[in-house]
Amino acid sequence: MRFEFTEEQKMVRDMVRRFADDVLKPKAAEMDKECKIYPEIIKQLGELGLLGVYIPEEYGGAGMDVICYATAVEEISRGCASTGILVSAHTSLVVDPIYHYGTEEQKRKYLVPLAKGEKVAAHAMTEPGAGTDVVSISTTAKREGDYYILNGTKHFITNGAEAGIYLIFAMTDKEKRHKGMSAFIVERDTPGFSIGKLEHKLGIRATSTAELILENCKVPADNLLGEEGRGFYIAMDCYDGGRIGVAAQAVGIAQAAYEEAVEFAKTRIQFGQPIAKFQAIQFKLADMATMIEAARLLYLKAAWLKQEGKPYYQLSAMAKLFASEVAMDVTREAIQIHGGYGYTEDYSVERHYRDAKITEIYEGTSEAQRLTIARNLLKG
Ligand SMILES: Cc1cc2nc3c(=O)[nH]c(=O)nc-3n(C[C@H](O)[C@H](O)[C@H](O)COP(=O)(O)OP(=O)(O)OC[C@H]3O[C@@H](n4cnc5c(N)ncnc54)[C@H](O)[C@@H]3O)c2cc1C
Repeated sequence: MRFEFTEEQKMVRDMVRRFADDVLKPKAAEMDKECKIYPEIIKQLGELGLLGVYIPEEYGGAGMDVICYATAVEEISRGCASTGILVSAHTSLVVDPIYHYGTEEQKRKYLVPLAKGEKVAAHAMTEPGAGTDVVSISTTAKREGDYYILNGTKHFITNGAEAGIYLIFAMTDKEKRHKGMSAFIVERDTPGFSIGKLEHKLGIRATSTAELILENCKVPADNLLGEEGRGFYIAMDCYDGGRIGVAAQAVGIAQAAYEEAVEFAKTRIQFGQPIAKFQAIQFKLADMATMIEAARLLYLKAAWLKQEGKPYYQLSAMAKLFASEVAMDVTREAIQIHGGYGYTEDYSVERHYRDAKITEIYEGTSEAQRLTIARNLLKG
């Protein structure tokens, strides 16, 4: 067992850390207020190879590994949690399934521009009536000649506003329940496709969360991803990988809040000395650092398992469950250490606290993670 990054992994971590410090951190509060990730940031992500980290170079990616990817998501999220989820949703929920299930033609047409960062991707499963219970989606896809006709409404879709390519899940045969779900690659300018309401959110405010409307949306049959009826299994694979990204995002948010709490504790003077001298504050910092390290090890192990081609869904569920709760605990304590200042917008910890909450909700709520973990423990 080795607990060391390779030279390549260290290089990626350091490069992304510099990008987060120099580019993302200075813009994060502004983007949070304006509720948008600036296009130049997305352009830079592409130029740095961060929109296709573990995709082979022949398909436009950076040709690195899943550990590099997860570490990059942590470092990006340390700078800006919204940008972290843009990268994670794009990569884990669309780029990865096209790479694994796409035909050669689909890879050339869609994977290459996505992995190069020329286009952003969004993954659309959730509907107003179907969240945790994904099998109850009501969007339909009906085959008509060389096309599928999609009808329905998706909501809460990350990257929905900026994406050029969407992976949309629809029922091709409702009777067959999960075996009747299929996945479609849909281009933004497809007739019958439009973007509806944008959500105003508690946190990760810079990322778009959009409604997508499909009204007789005419999708070429060649854009079916994998076989008809395999959509549910493709989606489950996406979420196993996506949970590594969300866990890494949660650790990045927690790390940012922790670093700011340390800095504040060293400089805030009360009773004639820095508050870091008080054991109550020291114990909080010790607990925060310990929780972050444990959460990081969990997501790195899940990433390593995925990279090695070993089963990783149990570990990715554990990593996401634990890291998201760590992010909530650490950001709450970071505000506590800042006292009243932490409750104001003059310090970033209030944003980290708001950003942390979503990690307990998307890509499977904490309750859903516990169900998955328990089901796996008790099977057989
Ligand atoms: C900001 C944001 C971004 C998102 N991005 C995307 C995206 O890019 N693509 C996409 O498809 N979706 C996305 N989602 C949707 C997200 O994945 C869902 O919100 C999430 O899965 C929960 O579904 P729901 O909101 O419908 O809640 P529900 O499923 O209605 O759950 C409500 C509550 O009931 C609990 N619950 C439900 N079922 C059970 C059960 N069987 N046992 C115990 N408790 C249960 C839940 O844990 C939760 O506490 C996003 C959501 C948000 C808020």
